[in-house]
Amino acid sequence: MAKQRVFSGLRPTAESPHLGNWLGALNQWVNLQDEYDCFFSIVDWHALTTSYDDTTALRENTLGAAINFLSAGLDPKKSPIFVQSHVPEHVELHILLSMITPISWLERCPTYKDQMIQLGKEGKDLSTYGFLGYPVLMASDILIYKASVVPVGEDQAPHLELAREIARRFNYLYGKVFPEPQIRLSEVPMLPGIDGRKMSKSYGNFITMSAETEEIKEKVRLMITDPQRIRKTDPGNPDICVVYAFQKIFNSEETSKIEQSCRSGEIGCVECKRILIEKMDQRLTPIREKRKELANNPGLVEDILADGAARAREVARQTLEEVKEKMGLLMPKE
Ligand code: ADP
Repeated sequence: MAKQRVFSGLRPTAESPHLGNWLGALNQWVNLQDEYDCFFSIVDWHALTTSYDDTTALRENTLGAAINFLSAGLDPKKSPIFVQSHVPEHVELHILLSMITPISWLERCPTYKDQMIQLGKEGKDLSTYGFLGYPVLMASDILIYKASVVPVGEDQAPHLELAREIARRFNYLYGKVFPEPQIRLSEVPMLPGIDGRKMSKSYGNFITMSAETEEIKEKVRLMITDPQRIRKTDPGNPDICVVYAFQKIFNSEETSKIEQSCRSGEIGCVECKRILIEKMDQRLTPIREKRKELANNPGLVEDILADGAARAREVARQTLEEVKEKMGLLMPKE
């Protein structure tokens, strides 16, 4: 039986993906590689939807994301790893799908309004054509590979819903081409940032996957704990504590012990943070080392990306042919 197809992507909007990207997406991708036919992309056009005003680091960030894909354990022999803009077929499908996508579907998308407000406060103008069309581009990324499974964090659920609606509308208007892609959440669908909001590159509350020990220490020290807890002996409420959310992930064997001693006021936040720093550092050290090794060999990473784009294009071209045929476009003479 043919393996089910998976597509997922990550925006190169920072020097390195953050722990939310790793635990919510990348780490899950690694586990899917054998069971599914996977395509993984560094979606640079998506990065431009919000970071169009400063592209000085885009190239470097794109390569950095690829290095992190590889250091997190993705195997380019199993799954093509490629840069979105190296596969221009995505854009052609995007324009075709934009013809059948009502603007109201895009305007009512909760992430559209939310990011406009959040980033608007920082002075960013997101009233652009490109940002409104983000979900159409994402639908194109997924549908061009006819992916039926999309492993992403919870924040992407509304976009996936839109991708399904667009696929359904296309299939209804022109005949069936696309499967309706389903979301697949990881064990960590929403990692909080150090301030308690969703960890996001856009909110500046993140810890990167490549953070050195000193940076981990600094960020964990800034993490928000139970605000009612003033003295060490005050009983704490782990349910509202960012450090506890991280303990559950990085120190699962000791979670129940830590929970009890927090509630009873036996362990203070400083000690709890010290334990967490140690555990996080242990987990991130091998990734960091692999990253350094790859960073010294950018030629190898670029070769992997070129091979990934070539393999992705082969599939993308076939879908596009089928789409154009169904939509009634005149094909150029061979
Ligand atoms: P960001 O929101 O930081 O700009 P992206 O939009 O590039 O990140 O998201 C890349 C992937 O990482 C998506 O699958 C997204 O759902 C996932 N992701 C992002 N932030 C988090 C988070 N805080 N917790 C879990 N998954 C996340």
